[in-house]
Amino acid sequence: MKKIILLILTLLILCSCKTNNPDTIDDNYRVMYQIFVGSFSDSNNDGVGDLNGIINRLDYLNDGNIDSKKSLGIQGLWLTPIFESPSYHKYDVIDYYKIDPQFGSMEDLQKLIEECHSRNVIVILDMVLNHTSRVNEWFLEFSKAHHNNDVNNYYYDFYTYKDNYAQLPGRAWCPIESTNQEYECNFSPDMPELNLDNENVKKEILDIAKYYLDMGIDGFRFDAAKFVYYGDNKSSIDFWNWYVKELKKIKPDVYTVAEVWSSESEILDYINELNCFDFTLAGAEGIIADSVKNGNANSYVNYIANYQKKLRDKNNDVMMIPFLSNHDMDRSAGFLLMMNKYPYLAANLLLLTPGSPFIYYGEEIAIKGSRGGANTDANRRVAMLWGDDDTVKDPEGTTFDAKKQVNGTVLEQEKNEDSILNYYRKVIKVRNKYPEIARGNYEVLISDNKSLGGFIISYNNEKTLLLHNCSKTDELSIDISSYNFQKIKEVIGLSDAKLENGKITIGPMTSVIVK
Ligand code: CA
Repeated sequence: MKKIILLILTLLILCSCKTNNPDTIDDNYRVMYQIFVGSFSDSNNDGVGDLNGIINRLDYLNDGNIDSKKSLGIQGLWLTPIFESPSYHKYDVIDYYKIDPQFGSMEDLQKLIEECHSRNVIVILDMVLNHTSRVNEWFLEFSKAHHNNDVNNYYYDFYTYKDNYAQLPGRAWCPIESTNQEYECNFSPDMPELNLDNENVKKEILDIAKYYLDMGIDGFRFDAAKFVYYGDNKSSIDFWNWYVKELKKIKPDVYTVAEVWSSESEILDYINELNCFDFTLAGAEGIIADSVKNGNANSYVNYIANYQKKLRDKNNDVMMIPFLSNHDMDRSAGFLLMMNKYPYLAANLLLLTPGSPFIYYGEEIAIKGSRGGANTDANRRVAMLWGDDDTVKDPEGTTFDAKKQVNGTVLEQEKNEDSILNYYRKVIKVRNKYPEIARGNYEVLISDNKSLGGFIISYNNEKTLLLHNCSKTDELSIDISSYNFQKIKEVIGLSDAKLENGKITIGPMTSVIVK
């Protein structure tokens, strides 16, 4: 009898896991959430965010219930670097096989992966392959080998070096102690650059990826992707084509996204095997901010449809990766004034897009943070504002005035139905309800007013109309009687919309989905 009860219980548990997120399609077209790990949530009262802190906050991110009103509904996490490192940001790795003790242990990472997967949330790690820490064992061995002129040493060629009289302009070089040689150090003397022509280095960095993929990690964000061969795009592109092809042999659906912080045309050159962030959309001068602030739907819709076509012409499997800001940029709540409700419209233009958009932690509650007079990136990475008893603190070096955080904590915003947090939850839910938004083919539909525009999205032989009114004040209309659209399915924004006699009318700062 006991056995039968156990069996029934097990079956019930298995069934409930499977039906957690019935509407989620298991591909990479996901809303992703970037966590700057040390600033997110602290589980052990030392003031530093950590892996168990993230586990404690998973219900906030995705509680596994697609109808939940209490959860953001994101479907993937990007963790900024978690490997052992001397810096607070950890972009200089000492040991790729050790979790930094400030953040937790390998067991904690394993647990985080399992908890995420049970909610159909994927986890991608930040892979820093351009450089390591100066106290990485590889660099210590490299330096020793050079000091001893041990040219046959396994590590002698692990980093890029030159004789100190050799002229290689454009790149930065730092002395290798007690030798007449210098190592490449474009970012900092503390960040020596790996020699990716060395077959042993290539094997090492593949082994690292394999280790984490075998463990259950779903993919990687690649740091400084255009700098792996400084000033030499062709070699850098060849490198990434090789690396990602190898990763796909290990895990065919590996999630990849690279930081190629550059012009649209240069980013496109990198997109063969891997996805790249759409820097054109992001930041204070990006297309989303421009369209929101200037009420210009035209430039936005033209960019999205043209860029999607360019990507699909190159490789049908690559995705657009829209975002508003990240840990290297001033926060969007600074350049998009809450007073004007700009973050609301920006959420539509960020999340009602093809591909896999990223939210920078805290963007959903309009956290502020900018480099400011102190010129420090720490100000862009301030502690998440939970408003409860979380002990997470701002990173070292932060000078950003906490009094400027006027948009409310998570706790405060949860109580306010009209908060930006609850708005993000709604927009993500709409996005997830219509798989064509992420996956369909976008064709531009423009009106005679630059503030009103959108797309006809084709997906599975069906057409969907997505329209944005970016005007701050005006109700705008467009005649859609030549199309076969019947009904407004969703109104997402600060006002209303109606469809009458083939004419659709949308209030200011509002988007609609029509079928
Ligand atoms: Ca901690």
